[in-house]
Amino acid sequence: MSVNILNGKQLAQRLRMEMKDEVDQLVQDGIKPKLTVVLVGNNPASLSYVKGKEKAAKEAGILADVIRLPDSTSEKELLRLIQQLNEDDTVHGILVQLPLPEHIREQLVITAISPNKDVDGFHPVNIGKMMTGEDTFLPCTPYGIMTMLDAYDIEIEGKHAVVIGRSNIVGKPVGQLLLNRNATVTYCHSRTKNLKQYTEQADILIAAIGKANVITKDYIKKGAVVIDVGINRLEDGSLTGDVDMEGAMEKASHITPVPGGVGPMTIAMLLKNTIDAAKGLNRVE
Ligand code: NDP
Repeated sequence: MSVNILNGKQLAQRLRMEMKDEVDQLVQDGIKPKLTVVLVGNNPASLSYVKGKEKAAKEAGILADVIRLPDSTSEKELLRLIQQLNEDDTVHGILVQLPLPEHIREQLVITAISPNKDVDGFHPVNIGKMMTGEDTFLPCTPYGIMTMLDAYDIEIEGKHAVVIGRSNIVGKPVGQLLLNRNATVTYCHSRTKNLKQYTEQADILIAAIGKANVITKDYIKKGAVVIDVGINRLEDGSLTGDVDMEGAMEKASHITPVPGGVGPMTIAMLLKNTIDAAKGLNRVE
């Protein structure tokens, strides 16, 4: 059995081209989609993520504004800025790059963003809507994973999906989205005993752990769809996922590479959410 590579890079490129046409149409109709990214401090990974988002937005014709603030910015100052952006009708999407410096309460900041401009999909109102299956801004990485599964015609209903990781931004929401689509979902995490007994039952295995190559072929059922969310930097500077790709390719029917799998899809979904916000979709009145 040969393995199918789920090429997120190629798919994201195609989606971004389609979105560019959509943005051109919106501009003709007098709406200029705009994303404002707020970056506090100098975390190198955050700087590189923000650059990637800004570039992708601009290429799709979306106005992208990055507000860089020093590490010393107070919580109050940041909340005031968010309030201004909430009230600014020219801004459709607001993204505060995480993590924030320790003296700023992340959850407070996320909740301060208007749910109508919450293109990261982290606001509790939008998370609640996701749980009840309403249309809303979905968190970008889980949204990207679902879009990729659909683009490759991977059946979800009735399948056993095992999600390793339970963060608010990846693990929990991707499990919920799979459940919404009638998968049977098992969550695993660092306190799970005998992880393998669960993963080897997975028709769809999502690894969102953040540890290089820990999921070896022994953890994978033959014919499974393997989605590797992890981004881990090795000592030589190269990037690798949570899954040992070489071994996994002997067992999986489909697998995402790292880089070039889930990562580009995440950015594409951020643009999609920004365009939807500009169109006035998913509004909470
Ligand atoms: P977190 O660190 O918030 O969560 C990691 C999860 O993995 C936790 O739930 C943790 O369990 C669990 N875990 C850790 N070690 C083990 C283990 N040995 N066995 C089983 N479970 C374990 O990370 P994120 O969810 O934010 O990100 C996960 C990975 O995905 C990272 O590498 C990150 O860089 C990458 N990422 C990639 C994105 C993309 O666009 N491709 C976007 C976002 C993240 P517990 O809860 O018990 O601590």
